Amino acid sequence: LHSVDSAALKLVDRRSEPNDLKSPIQPPSDSQTGCTDHILIWQWNELSGWGHPEIRPYGPLPIMPSASVLQYATACFEGIKVYRGYDDKLRLFRISLNCERMVKSSMRVKLPEFAPADLEAIISRFAAIEAEKWLPPGLKGKTLYLRPTHIGTTASLGLQKPRHSLLYVVATLLPGFSTKRSGMRLLTSPANTIRAWPGGFGNAKLGANYGPTLVAHDEAIRSDFDQILWLSGPEGYVTEAGASNFFVIWISPGGELQIVTAGLHNGIILEGITRRSILELVRYKSLQEEAWIVANRQLKPLTAVERDISIQEIQAAVSEGRLLEAFASGTAYFITPVEQIHHRGQDIDIATPSEESGSYTSLIKNWLSNVVYGRDDPLGWTQT
Ligand code: PMP
Repeated sequence: LHSVDSAALKLVDRRSEPNDLKSPIQPPSDSQTGCTDHILIWQWNELSGWGHPEIRPYGPLPIMPSASVLQYATACFEGIKVYRGYDDKLRLFRISLNCERMVKSSMRVKLPEFAPADLEAIISRFAAIEAEKWLPPGLKGKTLYLRPTHIGTTASLGLQKPRHSLLYVVATLLPGFSTKRSGMRLLTSPANTIRAWPGGFGNAKLGANYGPTLVAHDEAIRSDFDQILWLSGPEGYVTEAGASNFFVIWISPGGELQIVTAGLHNGIILEGITRRSILELVRYKSLQEEAWIVANRQLKPLTAVERDISIQEIQAAVSEGRLLEAFASGTAYFITPVEQIHHRGQDIDIATPSEESGSYTSLIKNWLSNVVYGRDDPLGWTQT
């Protein structure tokens, strides 16, 4: 920390150009890279509603310092991938669910509603344009990540619902999740920190859900963990792993072979589209024995269960040999096995069977890869 010389503070008394969105957005400089070269922009105001969406060169947004989003976090976002299939076709995966979730998130911070199908149509167009250059034919099995964002732009320090908003979409080539280990190491959240609470907004994809997780996340990274495993309540229910949903595969105390993830009943879990798809695929495949063959092994079908599960139950299952596998799921890092959970000074080790030896995690990952990359889409979830 250092102090500034206030006597050297200059007064620049020349008003700059008014920050209105009609003035062209500047082209990117090196410091703004990381995104592709276009941005999709769609503006709303209380008087005239939604305007005409536009695709422009990527660049900074003109925004007033007193804008609602900068003062009061009226912001939400989405994460969507464009997949270049094994057949070289481009695909979007269940994007209607992202658009519906974005309406719900927007409404949670009084941002305006829109028709999910309108957003879907303009994102599909933007995706096709950006993918042509950044995800060209030949890049089979690769993805481009889209980040739709909706912010309140009304310039006013009074706390009020936004009367203007900006919905924009940018795209980036995400590096895949990489680790030297066979799975992630998770650190349970500290006793004095919770991610989401009943009646809060953990089930909405608001920016305000993420910034405050960085203190715990940074602590975890510095101790060589990959993510925080967010616990909830005095019972220590496991909720989410970082910004991903969390699953375990176990033999329940009653002896049933199950895949379990936290339920959505108390509003503290983000309903991940990958999460939902995993549950639906497991249920859909449960009666097809041949779907459960992996690495020449016939696995027993799983029963999909959504329920609260505590860290103590996980500890007990590990010590009794009933916990088979655990993984995190989400659009960005797809399905990532978990090899260890560290909880209040104790390591909970979880097996991470290799793809060759055949595991439920790799089987489910395969099912989903086959859908997104166009090999087998039994439930009609992708559009080309
Ligand atoms: N939980 C949180 C908190 C997230 O931010 C995400 C990423 N959107 C997920 C779960 C996974 O959701 P999805 O499968 O829709 O990417």
